[in-house]
Parts: sequence; structure tokens; C-alpha cells
Amino acid sequence: MSKQKVPDLEFPMRKSISVIAPAAMAQFKCAADRCEWTCCQGWRVPVNRTHAEIFLKLNGSGGTHPVGEFLKKVRSSRRGKSKTNYYFDLPGTKDRFCLFLNEKRRCKLQERYGEDALCDTCLLFPRRLIQFDQSVQMTVSLACPETIRRLIMTEERLRLTTLSCAPDPEADWLDSEQIPNDALRELIRKRAALLENWTQLIYDDSRSFASRLRSLCKEIAGSDPKRKEVPIAGPNAETIGKTILSIQESFYPKASGFPLDVSNAIAGLLGGEPALNKLIGSAFSQADREFLIPFLGAHTRWLENYVALTLYSDALTEFEAYMRPDMSLAAAVRFTLTRLALTLNLLMLRLAAAAKKENGIRAETFMRAVYDIDRNFYQSPGIVEGVIRRLIQNTGHDPITWISGFLSGANEK
Ligand code: SF4
Repeated sequence: MSKQKVPDLEFPMRKSISVIAPAAMAQFKCAADRCEWTCCQGWRVPVNRTHAEIFLKLNGSGGTHPVGEFLKKVRSSRRGKSKTNYYFDLPGTKDRFCLFLNEKRRCKLQERYGEDALCDTCLLFPRRLIQFDQSVQMTVSLACPETIRRLIMTEERLRLTTLSCAPDPEADWLDSEQIPNDALRELIRKRAALLENWTQLIYDDSRSFASRLRSLCKEIAGSDPKRKEVPIAGPNAETIGKTILSIQESFYPKASGFPLDVSNAIAGLLGGEPALNKLIGSAFSQADREFLIPFLGAHTRWLENYVALTLYSDALTEFEAYMRPDMSLAAAVRFTLTRLALTLNLLMLRLAAAAKKENGIRAETFMRAVYDIDRNFYQSPGIVEGVIRRLIQNTGHDPITWISGFLSGANEK
């Protein structure tokens, strides 16, 4: 379709840059009108200033929708400096979408003016760029059904390649020279080599998944030479229940707008019974034996891909924190390990609750759990940090307690 030129709408042209990326993203194509959980709904989408100012000139006669009612402008002031941010406040109801979507659920802006008309966030999603010194990497959000299908629910392993991509002016950027702590700086500079080693471990199918996971945790923990041991608790009803409740408590007080309802998952396990450690633990163990172990055993590659991708995308990427003078190598390693454990525990909890309700685990259930955890948890680093801090306070130690028998190796001979 030829793109209409509108004299006062000068959308900036973007150049492409080379980035390191998961090879499967070379074939990524947004499902658009076929997407079951479109991202054009229920988000607050940050809009870069150049595009926001152009969007404000749009009106109905441009063939799109006037944006005043959903493009919000927020002025904030920090350390004496004022800043203006724009974002789309996309409707969160089931049948209401971004006002730029037409009746076929395709973006009117893109159809009429081409890709350069999309703001940076919409153009890049589900891709996210981060820069380590001179190397730019594309990470991927799993709050997109297409990325889950292409990168997780496949027998293909995670493989990296070089792709071309539009740059992201808002990308997190780390200049390792600026990290004050010497040991942490050295660790971050080895990130690519560490990830390669961890990925090889995850895909080493000569051993059980539980044994690989234990080695992975030990390897990550070993990045901090002073760290002594990784406590991996064997599951019993009491400790499982306690762990699940600690996960729940760590999500409170709820950060505003954070909708992942861990209580619902727990209520789903119990069928409304009072929340006692043992009861919860037994309910989980039963769902684990009946559903999780067979399902995960039959889809080990999905879980391998999930662990490999979450580490590739998120491990050792808390760039702002690394600049703090009080930040240590021990804290960075602990955070990486804790987040991995918490993510897997959340996934198991969601799957167990859904399995009890639906009397089994379907591929769509797995996909939805991966999607929800990414959308409601990973997309907000502040929430991740708060949850992990409270979880450690609640339990007195890192949550390296695999609440699934499959993950703990309880089913190993
Ligand atoms: S969630 Fe993914 S597939 Fe769906 S509309 Fe957004 S980018 Fe496209």
C-alpha cells in the first residue's frame, strides 16, 4: 500500500544497527489481528517525545483517531530538573483496544504512514535493546504469544546470531568503566562467557533436568567466590507450604497496578480451605505428582528454553544498581539466583493451580503462565526488586527451594 504524505507529519526516518539477538527473532512476525493477547491493550505505553508531538497533531481527517483522549502528558521534577513524559493509556477491558486499531485490529498509523510512524516502544516490542559497552543486544519480552511460540514452545534451542534492528534511544546502557566495585566490574565484563557456560549446562541432555538445574545454581552462586552453599530444600508438605506462603506475602503490599494474583493461585490449590502451610503444601504436592511431573517431563525442552531465555534476557542486567557505590558482587549474584528461583517457583505455582482447576495442563495453560509472569512481573524491575527483598525478609534466606518435584529431582531414581 502506498503511504500517504501529510505535509505537517514529519515522522523521523530510522536507521538500522547490528545487534546480537536470538536467532529465532529473524523470523519473528507480529500476529497482529490474529494475536490472542494483543499488546495493543491494557498497557501504559511510553511514547517518545518526537512521536508524541506529531501524534498530537493528528485528527480524524488524517484517517486515524484524535489522540488527546488517550495520549497522556505527565510532568515530573527530580533533583530540581523537570521532565515531560508521554504515554498511551491503553484500555484494559477485554474488547477495547488501542484507539489506533481499525476494525480488523490492524494499526491505522502503520497502514497509512508506514513503520516510522510508530513510537519507539510500539516499533520495537517485543524486542528490547540493551547495550554493554560497545555491544548491543536484543532481548525479548515473553508478554507476546508469538515469542513464546517461537522461542520457548519449540524443540529448537536458544541460539544467538547478528540481526539488524532499529536503535532504541531509551535502551539501558552500561559503560562498565563506571562500575565502582572492582570485583563486580570484572564479573559484568565476563557476562557473555558466563551466559554461554550457563546455556551449555541447561541444554546438557546427558543428565536429568533437576541435576542440570542444581549445577546451574551452583555455577551462578560460584560467580561469587565468597558464597558458600546453595540451599536446595527437599520438598515436604510443611516446607512447600511455607515457601508458597512466603511467595504470596512477598507480593504485598501490592504495588499499584500489579495484577498478578498469587492468592488466586493459592486459593485455586486449596479450593477455598484455610491457608495452612501443610494444607497448601499437600495440595501442591498432589498437583505436582499428578500433573506437573508428567507435563514437564514431556516438555523438557520448553523449560530449558525458558530458563536459557530468561537468563539471556535478564541475568546481570541491573545496570543502574551496578553504578551505586554500595553495590557488591555478592548482591548482584544473589539477585540473579533469587530471581531465577522465584520465576520458576511462580511458574510451578501457576501451573499447579491451573492443573487442579482444569484437571490437567494444556499447552495454552503453560503459555499463559509464561505470558502472565513476564507481563505482570518481569516488565517492572521495581516490583521484582521489592518482591525479592520481602521474600528474603520473610524466609530469612534466598528462595532456592524448588517447589516442584520435577525441579527438585524428587522423581529421580
Ligand atoms: S503481543 Fe506480540 S504478536 Fe501480539 S500484537 Fe503484540 S507484538 Fe504482535
